[in-house]
Amino acid sequence: MPRQCDICQRARAIIRRPKTGQRICKECFFHVFETEVHHTIVDGRLFSPGDRVGIGASGGKDSTVLAYVMKTLNERYSYGLELFLLSVDEGIAGYRDDSLETVKRNKEQYGLPLMIVSYEQLYGWSMDSIVEAVGRKNNCTFCGVFRRQALDRGALMLDLDHIVTGHNADDVAETILMNLLRGDIPRLGRCTEITTAGDGYMGRSKPFKYAYEKEIVMYAYLKRLDYFSTECTYSPNAYRGYARQFLKDLESVRPSAIIDIIHSGEAIKVSEEVQAQKPSSCERCGYISSNAVCKACALLEGLERGIPKLGISRSAKHFERQAVEPVHFERLREKAHEMRRRRMCGDSNPCTTTSCDDSCHGTTCACTTDDDGAGGCH
Ligand SMILES: [Zn+2]
Ligand SMILES: [Zn+2]
Repeated sequence: MPRQCDICQRARAIIRRPKTGQRICKECFFHVFETEVHHTIVDGRLFSPGDRVGIGASGGKDSTVLAYVMKTLNERYSYGLELFLLSVDEGIAGYRDDSLETVKRNKEQYGLPLMIVSYEQLYGWSMDSIVEAVGRKNNCTFCGVFRRQALDRGALMLDLDHIVTGHNADDVAETILMNLLRGDIPRLGRCTEITTAGDGYMGRSKPFKYAYEKEIVMYAYLKRLDYFSTECTYSPNAYRGYARQFLKDLESVRPSAIIDIIHSGEAIKVSEEVQAQKPSSCERCGYISSNAVCKACALLEGLERGIPKLGISRSAKHFERQAVEPVHFERLREKAHEMRRRRMCGDSNPCTTTSCDDSCHGTTCACTTDDDGAGGCH
């Protein structure tokens, strides 16, 4: 005999909810999943009405579900947000190019403006060329540092107030474990925060902080959302891989392990002495940094110094890179405004529209319609 839903007691239960073990129907699952995210948003006071919020969109399951749920909740509860999809093109053939196609479809499906910023454009290096130069080992370090800045710069170009990312409860629990195992106490103190803001960084938050990965996959599947499921073709972060496996083992014997770890992490008070020092700005690119030169600029310098040895000549490209201009982070916002104005007037400047699919051939940008700077060349 089919079992009834534990919540509504009417419909047939079709799933067993990973987070609670309840057997529930499809509609009740959608409802509880969405409502929990809504509570996370409201309790964490993530946004204010009128905010321009960028959804870090990779085309993967987490960010695709996030885009869908953010749009749904924004309409259902009248958050009054202006939502944008913001994607980073790391330049990984056979992986990111395909996943960006998914994001472009999501743009149409959800009716949200999309901006794509690329490593090639911002740094003069794609991940493919970085891996060619440094090999497969450690390339995730470059990617992580570059992605963070790329998202911030994209957010400035779109004049956003906030970025949301698809990090889920599993990711947060993994990060807590990793920081604990490495003894990285300042990061351990920060990694449980739902919002990171201030000190010059673009504010970021994780509306899926308490959402289980399994439930996100289930939601995407049951809603038949269009997402890209291939893993990055370059070597994954090995250490995170161990933490992930360990967490999965724990979860299999105790499903609440994920939430328990997050709650433990939240309860840990990090003493003031070990908290990171106040950051200032990078003297080369103006990005926020606790050292004179930010991590991205330091990595780029290493890459460039390695060129002669590796016999890869890309010197001409480096002068085009936006990141080498010494400009203070505060100025970046003004610059972004300037860029938007220039794009809107249809001036014959080199195209700076990152979402442009190159149909303008990098010469004249004819964007005259988009006052949000997100539409790109048409
Ligand atoms: Zn039900
Ligand atoms: Zn820098």
